[in-house]
Amino acid sequence: EPTPITSYVVALLGANGVGKSALISQFMTSEYINAYERQKDLGNQTVSIMLNGEESELTFDNITNSKEIDRTNPPDAFVVVYSVVDKASFSKAKTELITLENADLLRSRTVILAGNKVDLARSRAVSTQDGKCLACTYRAKFIEVSVGINHNVDELLVVGINHNVDELLVGILTQIRLKSLQI
Ligand code: GDP
Repeated sequence: EPTPITSYVVALLGANGVGKSALISQFMTSEYINAYERQKDLGNQTVSIMLNGEESELTFDNITNSKEIDRTNPPDAFVVVYSVVDKASFSKAKTELITLENADLLRSRTVILAGNKVDLARSRAVSTQDGKCLACTYRAKFIEVSVGINHNVDELLVVGINHNVDELLVGILTQIRLKSLQI
């Protein structure tokens, strides 16, 4: 009998315009996604990933506000996204982390703080250190990424396009699996 495939729901939280939709689109094209499964219609927000010999399905949900979360059936993971060129989006990320803490979801759920748009290096308004500190305060994992679909060639060259997006995708699933072992 084949092992049943585990399915997880991942909510992307964060201000409008930080790149949540762009990130989800980029996840859909990752090399970690099963080529065969990609042909099947899993729905446009769901991917099948083979990691360490085990298959899992991740369904992504773009949520601007953590207040929209169904407390009775919360997602398995939260990716709190901000833009490193937008200080207000960083404040919003902090607000979201506080909301998750107040809902007692930090302990039981995977939480990753992701600073996007690092390709726009010259316009950076939030330092890597500030991001790390915020993540640490709320015991979240931290990563800086660049979906890099913006064609601002001048600045894009600094870190290249699609920086750390696969690492984030693999990190989400790895952390979910680690958390499920602890409960
Ligand atoms: P959402 O509102 O959080 O879903 O944000 P979107 O995914 O719609 O992205 C908002 C805008 O930011 C779009 O114009 C994207 O092209 C742009 N964007 C997203 N990610 C990046 C990135 O990593 N670098 C740059 N320079 N632009 C990005």
